[in-house]
Amino acid sequence: MLPAQARVPTATKSSHVTTWDISTGDVLRAEIKGGTELGKIAQGYIDNGQLIPDELMIDILAKTYDSLPEGKGVIFDGFPRTIAQAEALKRMLSERNHELGVMIELIVDEETLLARLLNRAKEQGRADDNEETIKKRFEVYHKQTEPLSEWFRKEGIRNTFTWKGSKDLMLSEIFAFLDTQK
Ligand code: AMP
Repeated sequence: MLPAQARVPTATKSSHVTTWDISTGDVLRAEIKGGTELGKIAQGYIDNGQLIPDELMIDILAKTYDSLPEGKGVIFDGFPRTIAQAEALKRMLSERNHELGVMIELIVDEETLLARLLNRAKEQGRADDNEETIKKRFEVYHKQTEPLSEWFRKEGIRNTFTWKGSKDLMLSEIFAFLDTQK
């Protein structure tokens, strides 16, 4: 059986991309919903806008990855978020004779992000989509995740896209790019 967290992405949008999409946030929220030990640990961090510790997160990612059938590729959504996670991902893939293909960086100004997340709070009711936690998540992003941009540039696989005012525009630009990456 497929893990609940492995969603089939909209494969029609691109002939190249992917069979699977692993969103680490979705994986953690499924654990919380299931009331598991991991979910209990994760909840405290998520509610505070903090990152789950690297070792735990890397372990979860590897287990989810290994539970997927072989396919054309995987999109990692929300992972890596620290340099340690990126190094671990590279190691994990090379141990399996797989490799990192491309990294997509989205540049969105914080005002737009805040508005989008507050809107998502109304639609999805996510507990961490409140203004106080969002601000903490921005701080954590600048401190722990932003340095990854340079890490991926050095790996030669960073591709930066700037928010164009609509999700559909953004997605069509990204999928058109992915189609050139055979
Ligand atoms: P997301 O759904 O990607 O916005 O993630 C929601 C929350 O889950 C984050 O604010 C973190 O607390 C936690 N989380 C998700 N992915 C990771 C990760 N790669 N490393 C650490 N924490 C994560």
